[in-house]
Amino acid sequence: MTSSYRINYQLRAHKRDPLIEFIKGLLLTPFILHAKPRKPVLTSPQISGHESIDTILATGNGTSNVNQDDRNDYQEEEKPMVDANLQRYLEIMKSVEVMIEEHRRKAVKGVPEHSRLHRIVPSVASFFTPLPLEAAFLVANAKHSIAARRFVPPSFNDIRRILNTAQVMAIAPTINLITFDGDMTLYDDGTSFTEASPLIPLLITLMRAGLRVAIVTAAGYPGDAGKYEERLMGLLRVFDQQKLSEKLLERFYVLGGECNYLFRCGWKKSDATGEPVVGLTYIHPESYQPSDMLAWKHEDIQELLDVAEENLKRSVSAMNLKAMILRKSRAVGIVPLENAKIAREQLDECVLSTQQRLLEYQQMSGPSKTAIPFCVFNGGNDVFVDIGNKLIGVQVLQTYLGAAPEATVHVGDQFLSTGNDFATRSSCCTLWIVSPEETEGVLKELTPLLTIPAEDA
Ligand code: IMP
Ligand code: MG
Repeated sequence: MTSSYRINYQLRAHKRDPLIEFIKGLLLTPFILHAKPRKPVLTSPQISGHESIDTILATGNGTSNVNQDDRNDYQEEEKPMVDANLQRYLEIMKSVEVMIEEHRRKAVKGVPEHSRLHRIVPSVASFFTPLPLEAAFLVANAKHSIAARRFVPPSFNDIRRILNTAQVMAIAPTINLITFDGDMTLYDDGTSFTEASPLIPLLITLMRAGLRVAIVTAAGYPGDAGKYEERLMGLLRVFDQQKLSEKLLERFYVLGGECNYLFRCGWKKSDATGEPVVGLTYIHPESYQPSDMLAWKHEDIQELLDVAEENLKRSVSAMNLKAMILRKSRAVGIVPLENAKIAREQLDECVLSTQQRLLEYQQMSGPSKTAIPFCVFNGGNDVFVDIGNKLIGVQVLQTYLGAAPEATVHVGDQFLSTGNDFATRSSCCTLWIVSPEETEGVLKELTPLLTIPAEDA
């Protein structure tokens, strides 16, 4: 690797997913070598009717400029080309599937770094289930005509979706906990769940199938059930209208501030009318947080947030951002001023510089002080530093609800290393979506594979 290539690669690492890039690279080779443009049908005035290059070459119709070499510039007829392409792509997906299996076997033996996949993609995460990539490719191909494409190779998004389909197929028989990011996964950035959301019936189906469903969001409103109820108003209203039983509602949770504020859903007395309504009830940290989390000291949290705030302020001023600083009890962020938009590169700059600053601060603090886990992330149009992270969030729920990593899946939109869903990868299976519409898509793949007990149907 030349040094400029290496520098460029390292500086772009936060914009790439190495496993997806690896698979994309493998699929690109057969695309370049074999998915050539279709043979033209020549209709020049000298040539009668519609003749193909082959006909002209075979009959020696010498009036055109076509010669023997041109034959190699084109692919054979449509059907054989598509079939051959599909075969090559499937072989590749099967090989990656086998590599993932080997990686899983080495991980069970405690030496994942000995796997072939690890040697090729050193940052590869854990796989808690096998991934049937060959079968998933067939599903994706039926939707997006990947093998029939001659000008657009299998893309990053194609592969991301294939990994999602494979994960859904693999986890469906054993899943018992599904966690969702909020913004951009269940609803658009900063908006609320509306009653008309097509996701609501799908979430209810998951609950009827016995799964525990949790929203694990960065949005932090300390202990304030009302604020979360406001954002989830449409969903809770539908639960209410459908008179869902307490047993079903108990399967729905909200974990806010990454891992800091847990709420359970259920029937409660409305403050306004005194009538029973579906709402959220705050669960006290002592009943679910592990002792190391309960030991986080208030002064240490504030000191870390002070360091983060100072760095964020410096970034705002250095890049002249039209933004303000928002400080909360367990978070500090940069939020754009009204109608302002901060460019992705500027947001990433804030994230990476603050990550670096906080790591240095924790190193300098020495071993006497407990290093409090934090999360710095690019939220799409803002940057936040939160105390804790979604890895802890998912782990807390797994322990509280008794779910193993291979039975848990987290659905989110921020899986690059500057995003806050990325951290969950070490503790559960993941589905990387880019919009609420894609969340609907993966749930439509998952729900038909689940069994609903007669009493909950
Ligand atoms: P998520 O996608 O559900 O994890 O929510 C992330 C978004 O929540 C961020 O991009 C912010 O816009 C918003 N947000 C509101 N309050 C907080 C907070 O205290 N910490 C982090 N994000 C917050
Ligand atoms: Mg999000």
